[in-house]
Amino acid sequence: MQDRWDLSFLYQGFEDPAFQRDLGRAVELMDAVDAALKAENVSDAERLEAILDADEALSAVIDRLWSFVGLTLSVDATNETAARYDDRLSMMGNRMSLLTSAAVRFVGQLPDVEAVIASSTKLQSVAYAIRTMAREYRHTLPEPLEPWILEMKLSGGSAFSQLRDKLDAGHLVDYRGEQLPLAAVRGLAYDPDPAVRRDAYEAELASYKKIELPMSYCLNSIKKEARTLAIAHDYESVLDMTLQESRMDRQTLDAMLDAIVEYLPHFRRYLRAKAKLLGHEGGLPFYDLFAPVGKDGKTYTVEEARQILSEEFGKFNPEMAAFMEHAFDARWIDLYPREGKSGGAFCASVHCDDRSLVLTNFQGSFSDISTLAHELGHAWHNRCAAGLPYALLDVPMQLAETASIFNETVLAWQVLSHAAPEQEIAVLESGLMEATQTVVDIYSRFLFEKEVIETRADHAMSTEELKDAMLRAQEASYGDGLDKDIRHPYMWACKSHYYSSGLNFYNFPYAFGLLFGKGVFARWLEKGEAFLPEYNALLRSCGSADIADVAASVGIDVRSRDFWRSSLEVIRKDIDRFCELAANRG
Ligand SMILES: [Zn+2]
Repeated sequence: MQDRWDLSFLYQGFEDPAFQRDLGRAVELMDAVDAALKAENVSDAERLEAILDADEALSAVIDRLWSFVGLTLSVDATNETAARYDDRLSMMGNRMSLLTSAAVRFVGQLPDVEAVIASSTKLQSVAYAIRTMAREYRHTLPEPLEPWILEMKLSGGSAFSQLRDKLDAGHLVDYRGEQLPLAAVRGLAYDPDPAVRRDAYEAELASYKKIELPMSYCLNSIKKEARTLAIAHDYESVLDMTLQESRMDRQTLDAMLDAIVEYLPHFRRYLRAKAKLLGHEGGLPFYDLFAPVGKDGKTYTVEEARQILSEEFGKFNPEMAAFMEHAFDARWIDLYPREGKSGGAFCASVHCDDRSLVLTNFQGSFSDISTLAHELGHAWHNRCAAGLPYALLDVPMQLAETASIFNETVLAWQVLSHAAPEQEIAVLESGLMEATQTVVDIYSRFLFEKEVIETRADHAMSTEELKDAMLRAQEASYGDGLDKDIRHPYMWACKSHYYSSGLNFYNFPYAFGLLFGKGVFARWLEKGEAFLPEYNALLRSCGSADIADVAASVGIDVRSRDFWRSSLEVIRKDIDRFCELAANRG
C-alpha cells in the first residue's frame, strides 16, 4: 500500500505552469472582487451578487494553491520553495482579508439588509453568510488602520506560529542514545513496555530545554497579539472574541464547563483504577496516561487497521465503509512519522475537488486506528458539504469535530459489541483514555490558556512561570487522578493548538465536539438507520446557522446543563464498567 499521499491532482510541482497560472488568476479574481465592490449604477442586490460571485471563484483558486503549499510543508518542513510560496500566499491572504472587510462594511452599511436578501434568490441561498457579515460589521477595524494591522500580523503572530512549527518539526529527542523526532518519542507513550514509556517521557521532558526559550517567546507573542486584536476589534475579551467568531454563546460554554467540573471526580476514579492496574499506588504517573491495558495491547499494521475500519463501519453504514476504502485507494492519507513531517494528525479539505487529505503518524496502536476513524470522519463531513458554496463552509470549531467524534464512538461501540470479556477492558480503556484527554486534559488547557492571556496584560511569562501555570492547571483538572510528582510541565511546548495565530482557545471546542458527538451518537442508537440522512443533513448544515440552531435541528439544547450531563453520563457508565472489570482483575 502507498503510505504517502498523492498531491498530483492539484499540481505536478511548483514549476507546474498550472500552479503559476493559478497564482496569476488569484490576483485577477481579487481585482474582480475589488471592481464589484466599487461598481456604480447598479442596485445593492446586484452589487452584492457580483461581489459574492467573484469571491466564490477566488476561494476555489486559493483553495487549490493553499492546499498544495500547506500540505507540502506539513510533510516537509524544510522545503524552502514551499515556504516562499507560503509567504506569498499569506500576503495575498492579507489582500483577501481587506476585500472581505470591505464587503463586510458594504453589507453592514446597507440600510435594510433583509430587503436586499429578499430581493434575490441567489442571495437567499447564502442568506446566513450575509447576515453573519452584517453582525461582524460591529467588530471591524477602523478602515485606515486595517492594512497596517494585517501587515504587522505577518511579522508578529503568524511569524511566531511559523517559527513554532519549525522548532517542533526539527526537534530531535535523545532517546536511549538515538536521535528521534518528537512525534515518534511521544508515540512511545502507547508502548506496552513500561520502561519504554517512562524513558520516552523522561527523554521528552529533558529535550524541551533546547527549545523552551524560543517556544515561550512564540506563545507570549501570539497571546499578546490576541489581546491587542480583541481590544482593537471591540470585544470584551479574547474569550468573548473566540465565542462570537465561532457563533457560540457564553451560556452554552458555561453550561458545558459546569457539567464537566461536576464529572471530574468520575474521571479521577478511572485514572486511579488504571494506576492500580499498572501497579502504581495513588494517582497515575503522566507517562502511563496512554499505557495500553488488557489484551488489546497488541500493535496493528496499516493493512489490519484498514480492514478493521472497513468491517466495523460496513456493519452500520456501508456507504461510510466504501468511502474509507476509497480514501486509502486514492492515496488521500500520509501515514507514518518521519523527520520533517509535522506531528499529530489532521484532515484537510480540498473542497473544489471534493477530496480530503489526511495526515497521521501511525505507529500501530488501537488509538492510531481510532485516529484514522476520526480523521476519515472529518473527510466524511467534507463529503457531506460537497457542492455547497464556499460562503457556507465556515464551520465553527465546535461542530467541526462532530463527525470525527461520532466515528470514534461508533468504532468503539462496534468493537465492544462483539468483544471477548478480556478484550472489553482494553477497548473501554482506549475510549476512556481519549475521553480523559478530551475532557480532563482539555479543561487543563483551557485553564492554562486563560491564565496566559490574563497574565499577558501585565507581563510576558517566563518559562518557569509557564511550567508552574501548566502544573497548576493539571492539578485543578486531574487532581488526585494523577501522581502529584510525575506530571507534564511542558505541555504548552508540545501542543500546537496554543500557537495558531488568530485562533484562540483551540481547546474547549474538542470537549464540545466529544460531548456533542456522544449526544448525536445517542440519537443514532435511538433511531438506527433512519437517523443517517438526518445526520448527513446536520453535517451539511454546520456552516449555515449558529451552533445552538444547528444542534436544535436534531433536538439538542446545548444551552442546558442537562444535555451535557446526559453526554457525560454515557462516559460515566463506561467508567463504572471499567472500574468493575479492573477491580475483578486486581
Ligand atoms: Zn479532529
